[in-house]
Amino acid sequence: MDFFVEKILNLRYKYQLLEKVALRRLWKKSITRIPLNRGAIKLLFTKHLDEFPGIVKGYNQAEFLSKIYKNGKFVDEISEYSISSYPNPNFIRRFGPGPNWRLPENTIDILSDLEKFEKFVQRAFDFDGTSRKFDSEIKFIYNFLKKHIDKGDEFVIEFKSLLTPCDSCIREFIMLKELLEGMGKKVKFVVHDDLRIRKFGDISKTYPEMKVEIKKYEKLYKKNKKQWK
Ligand SMILES: [Zn+2]
Repeated sequence: MDFFVEKILNLRYKYQLLEKVALRRLWKKSITRIPLNRGAIKLLFTKHLDEFPGIVKGYNQAEFLSKIYKNGKFVDEISEYSISSYPNPNFIRRFGPGPNWRLPENTIDILSDLEKFEKFVQRAFDFDGTSRKFDSEIKFIYNFLKKHIDKGDEFVIEFKSLLTPCDSCIREFIMLKELLEGMGKKVKFVVHDDLRIRKFGDISKTYPEMKVEIKKYEKLYKKNKKQWK
C-alpha cells in the first residue's frame, strides 16, 4: 500500500493544478453518467435507515459495484457500501450503544487501518479548501487499491451516490484512472447521480416529499438514543 500512497500523493499534486472547469470537463469525458431518479434516491437514502436511523443526520451514502476482468475474462464482482465522515466519537455514537456500535453490512472499513488511510488522504481538499478526506468516494478508492487492484487488469466501477461527487472526489477518480493506465490496466466509470444534489439539504429541496422520510427517521433515531442510555 505504501507504493500507492506515494503514487497518489504525487498525482494529487499534479491534478490540484488543474482548474475546476477543466477538471469537470475531464470527469464528464471519463464517465458514463446515469441520472439517479427519484425512486433510486429514495431507495439509496432509506435502505439502511430502519436499522441505522443515525444516518439521517446527514451523511453521504454510496453503493459501489466493481466488476473485475483479467485477460478479457470476467473474474469477480464486488458490492461495497460507503458512508462519509471521519469516524469520530460523535459519528460512532450514532450507530449504536457503546461498544456495540456497528455500520451497515459491506461498509468499507478504514477504521482498522486509519493511520495509513490518513496518510493516503493528505491534502484531499475541494477548491474552496473544504477537507474531503473522509468522503465516501475516497474511502472506496483507498479500499480498491488495498484490496482489489491486483485481482485484474480491467475494471468497471459503477456507483450510485446520494450526493453527486464533489470536485475533490472526481479528481481522485481521475487520478485513479491515470494510476491504473500507468500500470497497463483499464478502468471504466459508470456514475449514477443527480447534479442538483450536492449537499444533504439538497435532497429535500429537490424532492420536498423526502422531508416526511427525514422526519420519520429523525424520530426513530431519537427513540433509539433514549433506549441506549
Ligand atoms: Zn467528495
